[in-house]
Amino acid sequence: MTCDFDFLALAAPGVRMLQPYPPGKPESELRREYGLSDIVKLASNENPLGPSPLALIAVREALSGLARYPDGNGFALKTALSAKLGLSMSMLTLGNGSNDVLELVARAFLTPEHEAVFSEHAFAVYPIVTQAIGATARVAKANRPDHAMPYGHDPAAMLELINDRTRVLFIANPNNPTGTWLKTAELETLLAAVPEHVIVVVDEAYVEYVEAETDCPTALPWLDRFPNLIVTRSFSKAYGLAGLRVGYAVSHPQVADLLNRVRQPFNVNSLALVAATAALADLDYLERSRTLNRAGMQQLQAACRHWGLNWLPSVGNFLCVNVGRPGREVFLELLKHGVIVRPVDNYGLPDFLRISVGAEAENARLIAALGAVLKD
Ligand SMILES: *Cc1c(COP(=O)(O)O)cnc(C)c1O
Repeated sequence: MTCDFDFLALAAPGVRMLQPYPPGKPESELRREYGLSDIVKLASNENPLGPSPLALIAVREALSGLARYPDGNGFALKTALSAKLGLSMSMLTLGNGSNDVLELVARAFLTPEHEAVFSEHAFAVYPIVTQAIGATARVAKANRPDHAMPYGHDPAAMLELINDRTRVLFIANPNNPTGTWLKTAELETLLAAVPEHVIVVVDEAYVEYVEAETDCPTALPWLDRFPNLIVTRSFSKAYGLAGLRVGYAVSHPQVADLLNRVRQPFNVNSLALVAATAALADLDYLERSRTLNRAGMQQLQAACRHWGLNWLPSVGNFLCVNVGRPGREVFLELLKHGVIVRPVDNYGLPDFLRISVGAEAENARLIAALGAVLKD
């Protein structure tokens, strides 16, 4: 379709400069392009167990109700979350994935006059929601490669960028794609140092995978002390519901009220609501997810050790590996073996690949393919 009309000139200034989020390559695309059938996808940090069996039952039961609008307040899911987390329902905001919640934060608190701060190598959605509003993104230098937490968030660098125009600070803990995290003392000190006019978003998409002995805290207990804190979580990772899109924010009730004002009335669909409620109660599934991740992480790290490859510390369900050459080239070679991983050159990590932890056989396929590619 050709047209001389300049739509770009019509677009809001922030939108003109936007680069769309590059998602993991879908299996179906690789099947079409390469004619491959047996494909392993370790590219989007999805749960290799598939969805929780209880969530599947709930979805099947809810199918016949699809002619009705969903519960726009998500009462059942909020009740379950509030019981599980031990906090008031008025502190919860549901989202169409936690990405939706991140966008609600930007729409509620940012304007073209304001700034958002986040780190280099941080989750790609922060710059997108910031720019879409026309607000200014201030990107803090990350830790240097020789730091104990290489490429991780540097609290001092973040604080330095905060000024009167700053309205939002995005922190991913742990961060994707690096896997790195801020320790309890670091995060607490940072929260205490941030002025009250700055909303601090602590994105805890991987919190369920964090082992008890790792010093990677959840920020939930600090909500009482810091009214400007928003904690976001997701059902896409350990709860295995990436395809349904559910996430939530926990915040001061007045902040939740603002987020709910900009929310679409039915942003979380009926199937997502029942599935998330059921998955939350499926403790057995969550435990199996964690156990599988622990074993898979060992399996991937053992292979990297064997090849002499370095990886970044990770408490998530993925490993960011330095492949010692352009990661995008290795990614393309792996595609020929039917293995999809994630190049992270767009995150400023050109020599790295982000590999999601899969089931044992999937990891074995990746290891065999990567071994073959690295030998060439
Ligand atoms: C995967 C991920 C999310 C979750 O996104 P959803 O919209 O809930 O699927 C949020 N933050 C980070 C850092 C992630 O990696």
